[in-house]
Amino acid sequence: MQAKDRLSRRGFVGGVATAIGYLGLEPASNAWGLDLRTATSARPRQQGNEYDGLAKLGNNENPYGPSEAMLEAMNRAWKYSNRYGYPDGDITQKIADHHGVDPDHVLLGAGSGEILEVVGLALLGGGKAVVGVEPTYSTVYRTATSIKGDAIAVPLLDDYRQDIPAMIETTRRNYRDVGFVYMCNPNNPTGRVVSAQEIRQLIDGIPEDIPVLVDEAYHHYVQDPAYATSLPYVLEGRNVIIARTFSKIYGMAGMRLGYAIAPPALIRRLEPYSTGTINALVKWGGVAALEDKASELRVRDDAIQLRTRTTQKLESMGYDVIPSETNFFMVSIGRQVQPVIAEFRKKGVIVGRPFPPMLEHLRVSVGTAAEMDRFMTAFTEIFPVANASNGGRSG
Ligand code: PLP
Repeated sequence: MQAKDRLSRRGFVGGVATAIGYLGLEPASNAWGLDLRTATSARPRQQGNEYDGLAKLGNNENPYGPSEAMLEAMNRAWKYSNRYGYPDGDITQKIADHHGVDPDHVLLGAGSGEILEVVGLALLGGGKAVVGVEPTYSTVYRTATSIKGDAIAVPLLDDYRQDIPAMIETTRRNYRDVGFVYMCNPNNPTGRVVSAQEIRQLIDGIPEDIPVLVDEAYHHYVQDPAYATSLPYVLEGRNVIIARTFSKIYGMAGMRLGYAIAPPALIRRLEPYSTGTINALVKWGGVAALEDKASELRVRDDAIQLRTRTTQKLESMGYDVIPSETNFFMVSIGRQVQPVIAEFRKKGVIVGRPFPPMLEHLRVSVGTAAEMDRFMTAFTEIFPVANASNGGRSG
């Protein structure tokens, strides 16, 4: 089927929701005319030395990597690298204990990306749709497209928060076609949170047999007291799946570990789709990470401090920044972001890809202090201060 046909077929919800079948990524350009080959090629695949020298502010990673305690635990696990049935530090039990649930509530994934895919594969069969916002982290939408499911994306509000009443209304209106609701909290790429009260409104507002997948990849960075994890809904036995990752605060993106917490009946629906390919080192590293609260807090505080310092500088230059509760932020640059990303790249700084329809916003991950200095130097070269009043107030 042509991308164009999919797009028109997905117009069925009309009104508040947009069809986003284009995320299947075969076409050279999408509904906004964005060149997808260029967008994808912004992701680094450089060899050794060149990659090492770049300021990597494009993927919301922890710039420091695993803590000492985690590295030591992983080093001790090398001795299992030639084994299958090795001791794995009881990682599933440790995650369960960490959240006060039984191990039958836990499913491990090779990164939470695998969890998102598994949920899509398990719950979108037979042409079902995922309801979410746009822009958001789009793995579940891609999975939907790849298995001929659907994705119904609701636009963000003017202040870039997720539109909970519209999500409820869209879900109810398409009840029979909806496989699950995807809620990224805090949202990537905006960094904004959905409050605990809004989550309750959503969960209570949709039919109770429709699962809600709450992606809490950036949970550890949130300071807003209105936010809360949605884990208590799992404990209540509600149809809720929480996705968490060791890639962000724990610095293990390259090692691949994430997990789902959900009621056992839901976990059993997901299990047949998971590969279980998690390596010995990362399991032991994960156990150490959960025990190393001091390192976790250091990484969090450092990211928040550097984010605040950088965004304050941008604001003082007249640029609007979306308030973020994560280790990244979005700045409104008042012009198309794609060529700007290329300009940063020429200066050795990788920044986030375009996030349609927010094509005049640049997403910047918080790196080390030195990387943020490199970002600000590049920014002031690309956007001389004299232009700020034109560039900074476009919303
Ligand atoms: N969810 C969100 C919101 C993300 O931003 C990411 C990665 O950037 C992931 C999930 C996937 O992370 P991983 O597969 O490394 O756990």
